[in-house]
Amino acid sequence: MYQSFIGLEVHIHLLTKTKVFCGCRSAFGDEPNTNVCPVCMGYPGVLPSLNIEAMHMGCMVARALNCRIPDHTWFERKQYFYPDMPKNYQISQFASPLGLEGYVDLQGKQGEKRVRIKECHLEEDAGKMIHTGTVSLLDYNRAGVALLEIVTEPDMETGEEAELFIQQLRRTVRYLGVCDGNMEEGSLRADANVSINLVGQGLGRKVEIKNLNTSRFVRLGLTYEIQRQKERLDQGKTVIQETRLWNENRDQTEPMRTKENAQDYRYFPEPDLPVFAPDAAFRSAVEAALVELPAARIARLEHASGLSREQAELMADEKALAEYFEAALGEVQAQGLEARDGALRLANWLLTDIKGLLNRVGLAPADIASFRLSPFRLATLVVMVARGQVSMKNGKQALERVIAEDRDPADLIREAGWEQLSDPVEIGKALQGVYAAEAEVFTQLKNACSAGNRKRQRTLTAYVMGRILEQTGGRADPKIAGAQLEAFIQTLECP
Ligand code: ADP
Ligand code: ZN
Ligand code: MG
Repeated sequence: MYQSFIGLEVHIHLLTKTKVFCGCRSAFGDEPNTNVCPVCMGYPGVLPSLNIEAMHMGCMVARALNCRIPDHTWFERKQYFYPDMPKNYQISQFASPLGLEGYVDLQGKQGEKRVRIKECHLEEDAGKMIHTGTVSLLDYNRAGVALLEIVTEPDMETGEEAELFIQQLRRTVRYLGVCDGNMEEGSLRADANVSINLVGQGLGRKVEIKNLNTSRFVRLGLTYEIQRQKERLDQGKTVIQETRLWNENRDQTEPMRTKENAQDYRYFPEPDLPVFAPDAAFRSAVEAALVELPAARIARLEHASGLSREQAELMADEKALAEYFEAALGEVQAQGLEARDGALRLANWLLTDIKGLLNRVGLAPADIASFRLSPFRLATLVVMVARGQVSMKNGKQALERVIAEDRDPADLIREAGWEQLSDPVEIGKALQGVYAAEAEVFTQLKNACSAGNRKRQRTLTAYVMGRILEQTGGRADPKIAGAQLEAFIQTLECP
């Protein structure tokens, strides 16, 4: 029996306005090599200076991951030669990361699992290389962009857990507003380390997997690698300590290089940057910036609002969606609906109809704030349906028109003549009208009742109900009409 160990190293691009050690713009997608200066291009004699916004954002993430921020944190030079790194060294943190010894509680299907965070450290990104045929192109816009590296302890065991870790981390940094979390664009990149060993023997010899561009690839790459290592050990072979690449076309990992050691980088303290000692003001600014995090929000939506765990997760996945939900919930309560009833009704509308409508106009749930349906209007519709003022069917129809025509729901429903008819006298008249026209059907219905033929009875009732709705232009309240119909059948004489 083997045991597996997975540790992740996740790099996130911080959404700072400028790069981490110079004043160049930090933006994705600009014209290549336009956001460069002597500092990030490594000219002789230039001096870096720390972007305090990057340190602030880095510490926000560290604190959100329950890390402690030491009294002194500094930078080292990590030496290596590669064309994407014009200085031939990367300024990073080695001996004194800005965040230490935190944890994340994974909220899995089988319950909670704690993954320890070893450290978070701030560093600069390298440039981007684009290989085209025989030439390689270099874009240094990314060189010097603030990166935060988050390193976990090897506490995960499966590809699924690692995927969940990435998803939760992504949600967290998006909530904090410090990273857009876009894995395809490289704003969030993960390297996965994995080893296996016989149970009780501790860590095995690890393999690092790179090129995992989506959280799904993290899962697939790790699952593949665990299986590959098992097979090797089963065959009496050893696992080679190396770096492997995930090949998404072949669904397998492939060797890339044998792993370098820390010594190979000849780390030494960056002489041009002073030690950073966070003072009380800096620390309290970081704490103040910690918004309600996704896990807390999910718990609140589940326990205070009464949503199911799954609904709460779907709702909290995007901060904007959760905020929209809460605004609408405030409105339905203001209009007199009980909180939990309102929450469940809203969740049903938001997670199905509204998500679909957003999708149809090419908006993501994250863009809901710019959608042409205010939380107030949604709340109004939900309340009208809850009160039986409009049927669910007509309510949903009204929803589409409220958005398309930018109208007030109550006005629109009134004008369209969709207000549900709940006046018993009016419904009674419609019933009498149907009886006059279809006396034969009622006789059959009565017979089916007496004979206890449930199926026939249901078919005929559905037919009569359809006719009543027809008579009232689709507006009769089905509950009232149904009750009247049942009472009416009892009064009929059988032939
Ligand atoms: P390196 O010096 O190779 O960078 P680190 O100790 O910094 O190694 O760890 C890098 C990552 O690898 C961490 O996420 C850590 O949890 C993970 N890791 C370390 N050793 C193992 C192992 N034997 N098996 C699986 N993961 C490991
Ligand atoms: Zn620069
Ligand atoms: Mg390391």
